[in-house]
Amino acid sequence: MTHHSIKWDPARPHVLVIACSDGRCQEQTDEFLSLQLNIEQYDRLYVPGGPGALCPSGVEYLRADYYRRECNFLLDAHDIEQVVLLFHSGAADGPDEAMCADYRRKLPYRTTAELRAQQEMDARELIQHVSAFHGKVRIHLYRAEVGLDGAVAFTNMRPSNSR
Ligand SMILES: [Zn+2]
Repeated sequence: MTHHSIKWDPARPHVLVIACSDGRCQEQTDEFLSLQLNIEQYDRLYVPGGPGALCPSGVEYLRADYYRRECNFLLDAHDIEQVVLLFHSGAADGPDEAMCADYRRKLPYRTTAELRAQQEMDARELIQHVSAFHGKVRIHLYRAEVGLDGAVAFTNMRPSNSR
């Protein structure tokens, strides 16, 4: 049996990151959370589509409802104070293959530009949902956007009139 040198800490981080299972942005995401948002320890809801899994996008109402309930559970049970909603895609002029595969599965006949627009609609809907049910939770809303050169930019998707 091996023992890890870092001891388990019973204190909860009070931060929940909801992001896609796609591992291609993992290191950039951790760096972004640490350097831009000052978040080192966090609870995770990593599922295909990330916050998109909580959005029906006009087609998947049961799945969205299921993940919203999972999210609500974590927000309550883990006493979450900040939630980071992190979509991902290629940039507007970025590579097609950077588009979230879960959005491609959900809406197979849409172009990449249409899927990006759908993510923006979903983001607006989701932020209203979280605000309505968890008024005290601080919401960060970003999209990791991959450029043609492979650089990853984290774009703030929050509408300017929201809290
Ligand atoms: Zn994805």
